[in-house]
Amino acid sequence: MTTPMFSLEVFPPKRNAPVGTIYDTLDGLEGLHPDFISVTYGHGTQSDRTATARIANTIRTEYGIPTVAHLTALYSDHEVIDQALDMFDKAGVTAVLALRGDELPDHERVGVFPHASDLVAYIRERRPDMKVFGACYPEGHYESASLDDDIANLKVKVDAGVTHLISQLFYDNDDFYRFLDKARAAGIDVPIEAGIMPVRGAKSVRRMAERNASRIPARLARLLDRWEGNAEALRAAGINYASEQITDLVSHGVDGIHLYTMNHPGSTRRIWSNVEPLFTR
Ligand code: FAD
Repeated sequence: MTTPMFSLEVFPPKRNAPVGTIYDTLDGLEGLHPDFISVTYGHGTQSDRTATARIANTIRTEYGIPTVAHLTALYSDHEVIDQALDMFDKAGVTAVLALRGDELPDHERVGVFPHASDLVAYIRERRPDMKVFGACYPEGHYESASLDDDIANLKVKVDAGVTHLISQLFYDNDDFYRFLDKARAAGIDVPIEAGIMPVRGAKSVRRMAERNASRIPARLARLLDRWEGNAEALRAAGINYASEQITDLVSHGVDGIHLYTMNHPGSTRRIWSNVEPLFTR
């Protein structure tokens, strides 16, 4: 059996946060040896569009870890995407996670890249050598009428040139296995990494689940209810929950695990120390 991939996601610090905070995150992740670290991209007009490339460059050159830079489509025209790709070239980034982005209130859609698949096709055309990743949704994307509809659109995205998928967070592995069966049956044969987001706060889990239309299974709901008033206990329970999810996913032979670190290296390290033997090469 092949060893599953293991990758991490970090995000650029908020504009008013000290620049050094990303170093605290990356220093805290040292020694985990992920296959890559991906860096998110803020797509509002207030976002610093250079941050993703700068941080990806730091990860690659100062920490020696391959990176994947996220890039969003909805509020970009050709010029903005060309500028981003030039920045990525200068930063030595060779893999991009091409995303549509969420709709933002009070923002006019640009209309050039209405779906992620449009951005995928454009990057393929402009940078034929770049690896292009895409996002997928084990419970279906929140705008989709059904999981089957969403998977049909996912197939279009993969056919446009995606070579690797990373999933949205989910809390019930059976949802991921159902999605995987359907995606494979639809002819989607690229590697699919399972996205795991460790529970840290009860409110944030409920908010995130509502925003993404993700289910909170009964086992997790009990855990949130039981430990909501005790932050340390909830974090410990969340680390166990994520570790158990990963153990089960790896036992099922998934292609890889993508951990959303939320820039909290402490929780990430504790999860890694629970599951590291499962990834021995
Ligand atoms: P798409 O693939 O375009 O899908 C969006 C919706 O449109 C789906 O319902 C889909 O079924 C439908 N659709 C797709 N193609 C068609 C078509 N041809 N016709 C009709 N319907 C269609 N957001 C950020 O702003 N920055 C980030 O860095 C970021 N990173 C992310 C990383 C991961 C791993 C994930 C899972 C999400 C991330 N997001 C990020 C959030 C993402 O931008 C949102 O989930 C967004 O709502 C959808 O993006 P997408 O690329 O999946 O869109």
